Amino acid sequence: MSEKAPSTKKRKAVQFNLELIKRYNKAGPRYTSYPTAVQFTESFNSKAYAGYARQSNEPIPRPLSLYFHIPFCSTLCFYCACNKFITKKKEHGAPYLDRLFREIEMQGRLYDQDRRVEQFHLGGGTPTFLSMEQLSELLRVAGRHFTLLDDDRRDFSIEVDPRTITAGSVEELKQIGFNRISLGVQDFDPKVQRAIHRLQSEESTLAILEAAHSLGFRSTSVDLIYGLPFQGVESFGTTVEKIIKARPGRLSVFNYAHLPDLFSPQQRINAEDLPSPEEKLDILSQTINQLTGAGYRYIGMDHFALEGDELSEAQDSGTLYRNFQGYATHSDCDLVGLGITSISQVGDCYSQNDRDLESYYARIDKGKLAVVRGVGLTEDDRIRHWVISQLMCYGQIGFSAFTEQFDADFFTYFKEAHPELGQLEEDGLVVIDEREITVEPAGRLLVRNVCMVFDAYIPESATKRRFSRVI
Ligand code: SF4
Repeated sequence: MSEKAPSTKKRKAVQFNLELIKRYNKAGPRYTSYPTAVQFTESFNSKAYAGYARQSNEPIPRPLSLYFHIPFCSTLCFYCACNKFITKKKEHGAPYLDRLFREIEMQGRLYDQDRRVEQFHLGGGTPTFLSMEQLSELLRVAGRHFTLLDDDRRDFSIEVDPRTITAGSVEELKQIGFNRISLGVQDFDPKVQRAIHRLQSEESTLAILEAAHSLGFRSTSVDLIYGLPFQGVESFGTTVEKIIKARPGRLSVFNYAHLPDLFSPQQRINAEDLPSPEEKLDILSQTINQLTGAGYRYIGMDHFALEGDELSEAQDSGTLYRNFQGYATHSDCDLVGLGITSISQVGDCYSQNDRDLESYYARIDKGKLAVVRGVGLTEDDRIRHWVISQLMCYGQIGFSAFTEQFDADFFTYFKEAHPELGQLEEDGLVVIDEREITVEPAGRLLVRNVCMVFDAYIPESATKRRFSRVI
């Protein structure tokens, strides 16, 4: 094992190594949780969740993060793999909110009022399917049952579909209480937009972003997708350049995985129009160069953030963590998910709400929580969760920190991992010295492969074929 001690600067760098990527490009979890959702079982129900929630009030009342899932969208994007309902009828919003309000009330009873809500996030679907009045009411109801932090240290964000609001609406979102905004863009090229059934004006998208900046939103974020039909290095590069000019604090650049047998909307995408795997890798390589060259840090997986953005700062200060929305700050929060399909991460458990709208309504109408599956973490899960989080968030595992946390020697605990770790080191994905394991710049795009070495469920999970390829 090497004696080399990598610098912080090196840990932040990312290097595109085509040969390694091709060799290690196999299916694997994205590690937004550990254990992953494949391990959730129905024996973990609402009662089990309520027990963990009450226990989490003691001994130290951690702050809370609330996530609300709004499942409606007016039109179908053909690449979409989300749990959503396509409807143009805005009247679907009211009965859903009615159940969500009752769920907020039930959840609010589980948590002590001295637990402040530092984070509040609306995702979907399309949260802006709801009217401004409905969004405002949602915050008011949440504020009646939870203690919402009421100064600008709070992190209140909303995912916005730029086709559903105008630049003028951004001020209303601010007045309602949001101080962070995230925009779905995907690609500005009209030919790509037609092929994915998502026609979105470049001008109005950029105007929304500009409005958020001039109104002083604490963070703006943009989602792009590479690997969509008719995308090429040049055309996608043009989209990336336009976004760089608009200077969002954060960017997510997701890989489109074409799985039409699993996600029926994707059957409307013609496989022959997709870029080849080689072209996709070229697009990815160029995108990384463009973003890192323009002052964005590669945080990990699909995420980039400007130096100075709170995501970059959290990575430096050790408060970054991964949850079902990707990378997040405020690692000390318990995450409470509300609405259909939402996932909670409270104390040492994960739980998920019903994915079906009608049965979600039926459970709430009976006065029950909507949790239908989940998992309580064992001591071994907690240890592996810590190790995988360190790799995903910081690209390293410190051996003394491990011993301090778990009163165990790292290499003794993971003795079965030695051969695989040795191989990863030989291939240049990691460096191992007497103090730590560090993911090398060439291994950062393949960090999931490093995590898989510590995943006790991989053999079982792999057979379930639920995961996308690493790149
Ligand atoms: S991509 Fe977003 S807006 Fe499009 S259908 Fe899916 S959830 Fe709705």
